[in-house]
Amino acid sequence: MSKVILQIDGNNFYASCEQMIDPSIKGKGVIVLSNNDGCIIARSSEARKMGIPMGQPYFKLKDKLAQLNINVRSSNYELYGDISNRLMHLLRKNCEELEIYSIDEAFGSISRPPQKSLYQWGKDLRALVYQNIGIPISIGMGETKVLSKISNHLAKKIQKYSGIFDIGIIQNKDPYLKQIHINQVWGIGKRMSIWLKNRGITNALELKNMSSNQIKEKYGVVGLRIQYELKGTLCIPIKETQLDRKEISVSRSFSYPIDSLEELNKVIIKYVLMASNKLRKNNLLCSSITVFTNTNIYSNDFFKSEATEKINIPTSNSKIMIEKSLLLTNKIFKPYKKLIKAGVILHNIQSNKYIQKPLFNGLGIQKELHLERLDNVIDNINTRNGINTIGWGSSVIEEEWKTSKRKLSNIMTTNIENIATIYAI
Ligand SMILES: [Mg+2]
Repeated sequence: MSKVILQIDGNNFYASCEQMIDPSIKGKGVIVLSNNDGCIIARSSEARKMGIPMGQPYFKLKDKLAQLNINVRSSNYELYGDISNRLMHLLRKNCEELEIYSIDEAFGSISRPPQKSLYQWGKDLRALVYQNIGIPISIGMGETKVLSKISNHLAKKIQKYSGIFDIGIIQNKDPYLKQIHINQVWGIGKRMSIWLKNRGITNALELKNMSSNQIKEKYGVVGLRIQYELKGTLCIPIKETQLDRKEISVSRSFSYPIDSLEELNKVIIKYVLMASNKLRKNNLLCSSITVFTNTNIYSNDFFKSEATEKINIPTSNSKIMIEKSLLLTNKIFKPYKKLIKAGVILHNIQSNKYIQKPLFNGLGIQKELHLERLDNVIDNINTRNGINTIGWGSSVIEEEWKTSKRKLSNIMTTNIENIATIYAI
């Protein structure tokens, strides 16, 4: 048995989530817009075929989209996050190892019986995911992460593979590597691809065959690893835990500028609550917090500001973090500045399994338990009844200046109110 690395990816993930939750737009053109309905950030395959480009401002294409009868949706991150959790949960059950790489991407591993293709296994997994979650996925398989990622590109590119490709059982991989543009090789950034192109290296095959010394000289071990992985030697292992997550951040742009400290406090508290909930969900603690804000980058008096505070005892408690962040908003706020964005970053993340408590100056065990219980109660109520069912008084935000989402699908999988009603006669 040999180990096979899998790269699994939700196709057109945001658009697929929208189609899954609203069957009336299945098989039709769908696009998803960024925060405040700014730009196109996802397209269903139907919209792509109709020639709708990625990243374009919505207002520029509004008429064309209407002409083509394309369905437009504001981004619904609560929905995508929930579908992503379900997807990862199902993948974890079916792979031997799993590393969540992004909201719609994971690396996994599975053992391969000698000489055996895993095509049927992939087909079954794909069907299982579609049946349970309603999202189409692509699966790339290979000896290493870099090769599995290339496999995934081929799975998507060549229709007859129907979303699954296993480069691991192919002896002579060269004709396949030749089809992969250097920019598509996992780990090759913009600067490195320019450097490579200047040396005549334009595809994965040429990178595999180029002088290792030349790569090492310029990019050290990091560059060498990519080349070794292309040759089939596993150098970048699967990381199952998310503990090496360095920070958690929550930030948003507003639908219109704010200029009062009171408003800034409210948004920051809102983001702190979202971030601290993420910490608790992943059994993590943090020991420092940064808040930041800025005005429009194109405005004449562009202003940005940030401040950081250490937290003496690592925590995931909302109340402690709110208190710290309020000290920070006072530091970063400047009157008469039209703020359009703010955010919170939690750093020095660690597991909550081992926590070193100070001998003196702690809160006292009773108080700590009370705060923990309060967080648990709030989290449970919000998990069961929807994210904003209960919160802290200071985080109540007036409807009108929440980020604008005019085209929100308004169907959620995380809110009991939004569950479809089915009538049986
Ligand atoms: Mg994807």
